[in-house]
Amino acid sequence: MSVSTVASDQSVCAPLPVLGRDVTVPLVTGGEVTYAALDYAASAPALQRVWDDVAAYAPYYGSVHRGAGYLSQLSTDLFENSRATVAAFLDCREDDQVVFTRSTTDSLNLLAAALPAGCEVFVFETEHHASLLPWKDARVTYLNAPRTPAEAVETLERALAGRAAASGAGGPALVCVTGASNVTGELWPVRELAAAAHAHGARIVVDAAQLAPHHPVSVRELDVDWIAFSGHKLYAPFGSGVLAGRADWLQDAEPYLAGGGASRKVARRADGGVDVAWHTTAARHEAGSPNVIGVYSIASACKALTEAGFDTLVRRERQLIATVREGLAEVPEVKVLSLFGDDAPRVGVISFVVEGWNSSHFAAALSAEYGIGVRDGLFCAHPLVRTLLGGDQQQVGECGAPEGEPGEKSLNAIRVSFGAGTPDEHVERFVRAVKELVRDGAQWKYRTEDGRCVPDRG
Ligand code: PLP
Repeated sequence: MSVSTVASDQSVCAPLPVLGRDVTVPLVTGGEVTYAALDYAASAPALQRVWDDVAAYAPYYGSVHRGAGYLSQLSTDLFENSRATVAAFLDCREDDQVVFTRSTTDSLNLLAAALPAGCEVFVFETEHHASLLPWKDARVTYLNAPRTPAEAVETLERALAGRAAASGAGGPALVCVTGASNVTGELWPVRELAAAAHAHGARIVVDAAQLAPHHPVSVRELDVDWIAFSGHKLYAPFGSGVLAGRADWLQDAEPYLAGGGASRKVARRADGGVDVAWHTTAARHEAGSPNVIGVYSIASACKALTEAGFDTLVRRERQLIATVREGLAEVPEVKVLSLFGDDAPRVGVISFVVEGWNSSHFAAALSAEYGIGVRDGLFCAHPLVRTLLGGDQQQVGECGAPEGEPGEKSLNAIRVSFGAGTPDEHVERFVRAVKELVRDGAQWKYRTEDGRCVPDRG
């Protein structure tokens, strides 16, 4: 797939400077260590460059699209130029729209609200809830978890062919798929799925929340209709996200939010009501005062990643992935979760369970005894994680639940994730910590408090 196309130059860059890289945290066993932020898949730290750009702009902050003053004009230009930067980062087509939202969840809900009447939606059960759930007004077909990328394409082909047989096709349809899984880190065959969708008259939106921060993405090359991502996973944690792609469904839809900015002209009618002419540009779905700092920070991150050279960032991340996967493979008690198998191309997101351990307990010990921040749970992808754990779809893993006894199945998992700002030492410490915890057990006692495993200091 084109998202894995990386130039042949073999150089590897240093980690990009991020905020918090020198922050130290106390260990329950005594002393302090530099915090190892290994939960990038949830929220990545801000790039120093993004912070610096935002700080440099902050004194010039002004209202966007609203003021006649110098700083308003400057802020409006910055906001609109950010749109162009994001379009270039995603290699959008000339007539694509870039709509600024709050997040990936918001972007997909916006698209769901813009579906044409009668639209059918096809979505794999393996998706993050942000992709799985927003389609409540549509007829949704949930596709079973495929075990290879080829099976994903076949499954979709079959479902779309079935649609044609049942209804004679012709009506609008949308496929929603992740670019990279937030559970396994595995890349999905986006280009092939897009070709299958288009061959059957359907459109496709890619949830790139985990793809865009790790890989160059080309909307044009992948030939996808829309793409969504979040700033806070792309080193720009200031509350903005993106939906980019085809203008037609968006400009035909009711505005996502009704209000100022989305409306071009509003007039009282003789009968006492109001007539509204809505914008047909991206502004149609951006009512209210825009988050110029959030938007500018995304543009800054796009530039920073592009200028650092995405190819070298990808190569570096592959080395980190190899360190973690090879380290975990040396621990027989660890089972790494995977849909597509060991050889699948992937980003720096790895989930696993440890035999004999409650995952929440393990994650708490990584934090309290090693200063490592990971995530435990079902990662807002409950059906996928339960499928990978071979568990009952109705069971919900909780901290402190009687799970993870030797020979028993875990009800939830541990996820380690990293990216452009991660130093080698963080993943090396993580591998050492996993080995020591499995070999020696935790050095401290833990208990459940408000649903979370915490060190027992009593
Ligand atoms: N899609 C994927 C694959 C994700 O990993 C996430 C967040 O973890 C989302 C969507 C939702 O992102 P946000 O919470 O920024 O809306």
